[in-house]
Amino acid sequence: MSSETTTINPLMATYNRFPLTLVKGKGSHVWDDKGEQYLDFTSGIATCNLGHVPETVKNALQEQLNNLWHISNLYHIPSQEALAKKLTDVSCFDQVFFCNSGAEANEGAIKLARRYAQKVKKTDAYEVVTFTQSFHGRTLGTLSATGQPKIQDGFYPLLNGFRYLPYNDVDALKDLKGDKTCAVLLELVQGEGGVIPADADWIQALKQTCEDEGLLFMVDEIQTGVGRTGTLFAYEQYGIEPDVMTLAKGLGNGIPIGAVLAKAEVAQAFGPGSHGSTFGGNPMATTSGVTVLKEMTETDVLAHSQIISELLFAGLNELKDKYPDQFLDVRGRGLLVGVQTACPAIDIVNKARDKKLLVLVAGANVLRILPPLTATAEDVQTFLSIMEEILNEG
Ligand SMILES: *Cc1c(COP(=O)(O)O)cnc(C)c1O
Repeated sequence: MSSETTTINPLMATYNRFPLTLVKGKGSHVWDDKGEQYLDFTSGIATCNLGHVPETVKNALQEQLNNLWHISNLYHIPSQEALAKKLTDVSCFDQVFFCNSGAEANEGAIKLARRYAQKVKKTDAYEVVTFTQSFHGRTLGTLSATGQPKIQDGFYPLLNGFRYLPYNDVDALKDLKGDKTCAVLLELVQGEGGVIPADADWIQALKQTCEDEGLLFMVDEIQTGVGRTGTLFAYEQYGIEPDVMTLAKGLGNGIPIGAVLAKAEVAQAFGPGSHGSTFGGNPMATTSGVTVLKEMTETDVLAHSQIISELLFAGLNELKDKYPDQFLDVRGRGLLVGVQTACPAIDIVNKARDKKLLVLVAGANVLRILPPLTATAEDVQTFLSIMEEILNEG
C-alpha cells in the first residue's frame, strides 16, 4: 500500500487517548503544546510519585547521561548494586532482580514461584492463585494471572497454571490450596480493578493459610509501592512480611524499571542462567531508582503525603456528604484514591480536563485520583473546588 493513499494511523490503536498533547511537566503541573497549564492528579498512572522532573533525580540522571547509558548484565553496575542494597535495607526482602516494567516483574515473580517449587522444594507444583478484579499486566503470562476476562479477550488459550478466588473473601480461602498450588499473587489495593483495599482480616487469614499450606505469599506492589499508599510499601500497613514483592511504576519516577524482591530462601531458586533481561537494571534506570528511594527515605515526603492524603479524603468525604446522589463511596490508601460515582466516571474526567485538571478512571464507575506525593495543600484545594463545580453542574 502506498503511503499517499492511506489514512491509517502509524500507531496501533491500543489506547483510547484524550485529545491532549502534553509537552512539559514540573511538580504537580503539566503544560500542553499550546502552553495551557493543567493540575496533574494522575502522576503518569501512579508513576511520577515525586512529581514531574524532580531536581534531584534530574541531576543524577544528567550526570549518568554523561558517563554511561547501558552496558548489559555481563558486568557489574554500581547503581544497580546500590539500588538492590537500598531496597533490601528498607524492606523485609534479601535479594532483588531488575527488569523494565510491571508485567515483566510479575513474570519474574511467577517464574520464581514455579522454580522455587520445582528446584528447591522438589515438587511438581506450579499453580499461582490470583483474585477476581485483579490486574497484573499484559504479557501472556500476566494477562493469564489477571482475574478480568476483558483483559484476556481474544488472547486464548491462556497460560496454564492460574486459578482465581474472590478478593476479600475469608470463606473462599478453604479452596486456596489445590493439588499443584505453589503461591498466591495479589494487590494490597486493587488499582485498575476499582481502587479496592484489601481487608486487614482477610490478609491475616490469607497469610496464615499460606504458611499452613506451604504456599508463597507474593504481593504485586507495582501500583501501591514506593510511597503511593502513605508508607514506602503497602504491606507495612498489614503487619505481614510477604515472601516476594514486585515493583515498577513509582520506582523510577518515569524512567522505565521493574523489580522482583524476595526472601533469600526463595531467591536462591534463581541461579546463573535461570532468568535475565538485556536492559534490566541498566545504569540510567537504577540511577533514577536510587535517587527516588533516597528522596523517599531521607526527606519528609512520605510524612507530607500522609497530610495531603488526610486533606484529600476529608474534602472528598465532604463532597460525598453534600452530593450523596453523585459520589457514592470514597476509598483507598494514602494517595491511591477512588471515588465510586453514580454517572460514568469518564464524564467527570472529561469535564475536569476542560477545567484544567487531569484525573483517571479505574473501571466504569470509579474515579481514580493519583496526586504526586509532593502535591501541596493548595493543589488539593484547587482539585476540590473543580470537583465541586462539576458536581454543582450536575
Ligand atoms: C500497572 C500495573 C501492572 C503492569 O505494569 P506495566 O509496567 O504496565 O507492565 C501490573 N500490576 C499492577 C498492580 C499495576 O498497577
